[in-house]
Amino acid sequence: MKILILGVNGFIGNALVRRILHTTDWDVYGMDLYSNKLDHALGHPRFRFLEGDIAINKEWIEYHIKKCDVALPLVAIATPMAYVKKPLTVFELDFEENLRVVRQCVQYGTRIIFPSTSEVYGMCADPEFSEDDSTLVLGPIHKQRWIYSCSKQLLDRVIWAYGQEGKLQFSMIRPFNWIGPKLDDLDAAKEGSSRVVTQFILNLLQREPIKLVDGGFQKRCFTYVEDGIDALMAIIQNPGGIADGQIFNIGNPDNEASVKELAYLLRDLFVQHPDHRHDGVYSEIVETRHEDYYGKGYQDIVSRKPSIEKARQLLGWEPKTDLGTSLKITLDAFLEEAKGSAV
Ligand code: UDP
Repeated sequence: MKILILGVNGFIGNALVRRILHTTDWDVYGMDLYSNKLDHALGHPRFRFLEGDIAINKEWIEYHIKKCDVALPLVAIATPMAYVKKPLTVFELDFEENLRVVRQCVQYGTRIIFPSTSEVYGMCADPEFSEDDSTLVLGPIHKQRWIYSCSKQLLDRVIWAYGQEGKLQFSMIRPFNWIGPKLDDLDAAKEGSSRVVTQFILNLLQREPIKLVDGGFQKRCFTYVEDGIDALMAIIQNPGGIADGQIFNIGNPDNEASVKELAYLLRDLFVQHPDHRHDGVYSEIVETRHEDYYGKGYQDIVSRKPSIEKARQLLGWEPKTDLGTSLKITLDAFLEEAKGSAV
């Protein structure tokens, strides 16, 4: 099988290509702006890589969509600070560039596995979000946070419509707060534009306060990346077309924690770490208002928990890694990385 991965240096892309090269005989064609997370893959005989921008290298992309059996367009900005501060950049990249890829998959008959997002459920009040039943609830237009959710939702609907017309073989995944090594760059966290786990780890390393937005009562279900990759591999393999035309929540409902609980768990793990056990001084945990942290365009999601019945039944998938283990592996990897950098 020939697989095209756009955004192959990203958090999901680099973990996926590692798994593919280790466990299959598939050929992978990848593009990304950077290659710093791809040491394990560069030079592998079944991995071809082009360093480039999807907005520029359009011919390379079209050629490879035509050539490959499956395309995974993983290029997207997926951090809430960017939704609020750079909403048009989010729209242009996450929607416009990806729409072109979707249309080329239609044109060349290439199967697409599209990364939708748990963010599409927005402020849905269901205790567990269901792919085919939950309502998608977004805030008003001046709350710019929702541009990402809305962009992804519209692409989900476009892909679905092409599927209904029999013009596109597709599956979609909705990751729920995947975490693990290489989640974000620590430099992004320095600018405040990383996801919460990376942000808290950087705060701990720099002995800065950990900031709980609006008290940190909002809850997320943190999912270990390798568990997520198990599900993604089953979808790519697609035995008997089981994943065709389906949307899958990929998350770990047992790993639910409030942001406040997350902060204390991470600080405890940091204090126990052999390199930091004697630091003496550790980050305090403080509260802040979302207007001060993100600005006026922000609105939060109180609870985000997946139903994973569909992935269980169709893919035989089950997440295996508990929250403590997932956080420890993630923290240890970041601390190891920070040793070699200026953080
Ligand atoms: N958050 C926080 N402090 C921070 C960064 C994030 O309290 O320094 C909160 C944020 O308001 C959100 C949650 O952590 O409720 C998860 O944020 P993340 O950036 O991981 O994205 P999300 O899960 O909302 O997509």
